[in-house]
Amino acid sequence: MQLRHLRGLLAAEPALRHSKSHEKSHDKSHDKSAEEHAVRARRVRAVVERLARVERAPLTIAETTVSVRDGLHRERLLLESSVRSSFHGTLLAPTDAAPTAPPGPAVLVLGGKNARLDQLTGDVPPDHPDRNVAEQLAHAGFVTLSFDHGIGGALDAGRRAGRDEGTLLAHAFALTGRSLLGALTGDALGALDVLTAHPLVDPRRVGLFGHSLGAAVALHTALLCGREGVPLCAASHVGSYQALYERLLTGHEGAVLPGILEYADLPDLYGALAPAPLQLQYGTADSYLEPADARAAADTVREAYAAAGAEAEVHGLPMGHGTHVGHAADFFTRTLAEPAARGPQVPAQRIHFEVSERRAVLDRVDAALASGILTQGPQVARFEELARPWTGADAAAVASGSAALEIALRVIGVAGRTVLVPVNTFFATAAAAVRAGAAVRFVDIELDGLGMDPDALRAALDRHPDTAAVLPVHIGGIVAPSLDALLAQCEQRGIPVVEDAAHAFGATLDRRPAGGFGRFGAFSFFPTKVAISGEGGLLSAASAADLEQVRRWRDHGKSAPGSTLHDRPGGNWRLSELHAAVGTVDLERFSRTLAARRALAARYDALLADVPGVRPHTVPAAAGSNYYKYLAYLHPDAPLDRPLLKKRLRKRHGVSLAGEVYDHLLCDHPQFASQRRQDAADGPFHRARWFARHHIALPLYPSLTEADQLRVVAALRSELP
Ligand SMILES: *Cc1c(COP(=O)(O)O)cnc(C)c1O
Repeated sequence: MQLRHLRGLLAAEPALRHSKSHEKSHDKSHDKSAEEHAVRARRVRAVVERLARVERAPLTIAETTVSVRDGLHRERLLLESSVRSSFHGTLLAPTDAAPTAPPGPAVLVLGGKNARLDQLTGDVPPDHPDRNVAEQLAHAGFVTLSFDHGIGGALDAGRRAGRDEGTLLAHAFALTGRSLLGALTGDALGALDVLTAHPLVDPRRVGLFGHSLGAAVALHTALLCGREGVPLCAASHVGSYQALYERLLTGHEGAVLPGILEYADLPDLYGALAPAPLQLQYGTADSYLEPADARAAADTVREAYAAAGAEAEVHGLPMGHGTHVGHAADFFTRTLAEPAARGPQVPAQRIHFEVSERRAVLDRVDAALASGILTQGPQVARFEELARPWTGADAAAVASGSAALEIALRVIGVAGRTVLVPVNTFFATAAAAVRAGAAVRFVDIELDGLGMDPDALRAALDRHPDTAAVLPVHIGGIVAPSLDALLAQCEQRGIPVVEDAAHAFGATLDRRPAGGFGRFGAFSFFPTKVAISGEGGLLSAASAADLEQVRRWRDHGKSAPGSTLHDRPGGNWRLSELHAAVGTVDLERFSRTLAARRALAARYDALLADVPGVRPHTVPAAAGSNYYKYLAYLHPDAPLDRPLLKKRLRKRHGVSLAGEVYDHLLCDHPQFASQRRQDAADGPFHRARWFARHHIALPLYPSLTEADQLRVVAALRSELP
């Protein structure tokens, strides 16, 4: 046995451990430690999610058989899952609750390795007095659901030849990079959804109970269910992995995620649940545990809860490897008396990568690290190739959207001359021109497509005959039909156009992609944008010669590829392979991203049609918006206090609006204070000012659900006059 080797490995401090120095320091404010706890808890959840690789397949109820016995309403369910075919579950409810009483509190009951469904639910006499937990909790007033975990009884004894079925399953899952615990947790997450959606159940009052292996599953279910505040009672499952798997050898292979101990030990996982209600029970006469180790583990959990400003309830009881159902029932009675789970929040923005996408990024980063090619390598080449269908012209990857704008202006050579930008845009549009040595002048917008107003542009071009470039911005992902007039005017005067397409990856005008209209198109892959790489940009160019210039500017201005001579003041505007690893994964899913955004926008259109206080921005028919922003206007008669509205939506409804595009005009930024006199001559920018003041942007991102959208619209309806 390589026990000594193993001992060393198991003794290593997990990376996400609560740090001792921090525990000891009393000078830190409570808020600080709560914040640190929240950060660590999020990281623990993210690691658990990655290692568990749960295949989330919705469970459906294929058959229901209802009976009433011993004062309980019983539903025997045949549950169907596309990942593991069908299996049985049993729902119990107090008879006085069915069928007319209001929906009540509920508990998902997960038994241990040897627990059989019919014993948990009292369909057959339990082999142990506390085995029928589900039945006892139902008698205590809770709807319960338990199901057959499927790790016993499938193989006949001959074939098993004395081997443990759970062990055999765990080995086979390990072969696929998955785990038995991940599979069990997937079942439990599906069952939690079934229970939550049941007509007898109040969806905000649902808790989790687990015993032994079932407690491990309940713990991981609580970590991964995405609902905050779900109460968990875990019986006979506390200690350190070191004690359970090396000293006592009582740990089950279905109770751990392979690789977890590099990040967190068992008490850290429980601690990550804070401040959700938690009850831990352990027996001081349990031969599966070491009482001292269990106590120490419970103390670690308590510390994590204290850091989060909450309390974990721990019962060390004179029992063996069992459950004190009375304590469990008390716990749920207290914690489920009121809605426990925090109502869903709709954030302004959610950057979401599926676990499979995160794994793809990690694989690509690993390939880059293993090859030593960390920048300007195969990932960047692939990033440029994947972007090609969306950019309207060939493009070169660069470090950011701002770098893309600056390089375009450097290639054109704007120094000492004027660059025209819309007065309503992000600061970076103008800042790039300033850095490239130009004087920036502002132009008003039109209110249909939010592009530069053609008449205002004509006036500006007349007033500034030294204009070296015009930078239209596709605000909110709309390529304005007024772009045609702009292009015609610029062509007539021989002035190059640089599209600031930072908002507009995937957007079109008359089916032609943004980035393909001007001499250059600059895209950003900053995390808030529609396509993302962390930091990153892309510069499309209509001509191959220009694109070649872009490649030299981005690489310190080399006079030729690979040369050590430099003929222009280029910069380090390269994209790294590591960012390209993120960007390629995001681009591979981009057609789904775009379709999702458009479907969400169409649903907002429909939902808002009968909300009197708000009017969606009508996207011009020729524009295929990518809905970087879903823009709307509040009723013109309603005196608008946008900050107050946003605060009320957040505080009262958990709904955060997205950021505006934009709330300040460029001419009002301190950076441009010194040119106010000239700006006044170019102004007064009435339309841009009206837009900046009156629009709002609703949250819109691919992971937004229909339920989220209904919440947003209901919140608006109740806050608008
Ligand atoms: C985001 C953005 C940029 C800058 O992009 P970065 O990648 O952050 O440098 C430029 N212009 C507009 C309109 C933007 O929204």
